[in-house]
Amino acid sequence: MWPYEDSRAAVRDALRLSRAMTFKSAVAGLPLGGGKGVIVLRAGEPPPVPEQRRAALLDFGDTVQSLEGRYVTAEDVGTSDADMTVIAERTAHVTGLAGGSGDPSPWTALGVETAIRVACRSVWGTPSLEGRSVSVVGLGRVGAKVGELLAQGGARLIVSDVDEGKRRLAERLGAEWAEPRAALLADVDVVAPCALGAVLDDDSVPALRCRVVAGAANNQLATDALAGALTAREVLWAPDFVANAGGIINISVELEPAGYDRERARARVLGIGETLSTIFEEAERGQTSPLSAAMTLARRRLQEAGAPPPAASRGAPAA
Ligand code: NAD
Repeated sequence: MWPYEDSRAAVRDALRLSRAMTFKSAVAGLPLGGGKGVIVLRAGEPPPVPEQRRAALLDFGDTVQSLEGRYVTAEDVGTSDADMTVIAERTAHVTGLAGGSGDPSPWTALGVETAIRVACRSVWGTPSLEGRSVSVVGLGRVGAKVGELLAQGGARLIVSDVDEGKRRLAERLGAEWAEPRAALLADVDVVAPCALGAVLDDDSVPALRCRVVAGAANNQLATDALAGALTAREVLWAPDFVANAGGIINISVELEPAGYDRERARARVLGIGETLSTIFEEAERGQTSPLSAAMTLARRRLQEAGAPPPAASRGAPAA
């Protein structure tokens, strides 16, 4: 649920995000395709009052129901688990409800922590976070949990958010507070982008001072070509659609015939580590970027599944 200028912009976003979901599921080895729904808010207008919000969610539920299970919806930017409960009044094709797999964010965070450890092992030979300096940009549902997991692992943290109210969380984590731009360009081992997309652009990439970038944010690269620029600068980038797949992996467990099970979900999410190791190895062997290696893996899996070839790239895939 997001403000869009017009319906064309909303359709474009839904197509971009659904394409990304396809790659995310394929790389994670899930028996899912890619779909995304958007609920359009009017840009520049005040947010809907509760009755309007409820009505929009019920309409959305009807739309999902009309697809008879070919699309299954879930919580994402601008929606909460309470919203999913409203949608469930109209359709059973909704996941992430209390009693099911629940809020996906902690699982996304677990996947990001795993990705950071794998990237550290690749650069420094050990996955240990003890004494590693990490900058977490964005302390929302995922970023706050990533910060907690890293602090528990012994990392020294810089944290940042546009919301000054998050300073309290920084104190609780024993972290240093920085402005978002300073946090992105900080002299640290690892930067974890956990806010919005396109943070890695022609200005920031040459100015990065870290060796690893691995985080939850979608669509981190402003353009695909920046994957090569990062590799040339010897900054190891964990493709976002690999590192942030924990949420969808957790949801996929709910869709299995055996039903949801936390331990099975945990094991599957930790599998992001193995996938990412393979991608880093392939990238090194092929003298290419992790993005290119991840896309090759995704395309191979889609081909094996008999899916039609995905449309040509118009930007980094990440939902
Ligand atoms: P969220 O809305 O809970 O948190 C985003 C946080 O980033 C907020 O605290 C916000 O104030 C902050 N922020 C916004 N702009 C910023 C900026 N320029 N600099 C610093 N901070 C800024 O969202 P979330 O669920 O934590 O998701 C974070 C990112 O991870 C998003 O890109 C989302 O699409 C992606 N993601 C989330 C999940 C999930 O399970 N929630 C799964 C996959 C990917």
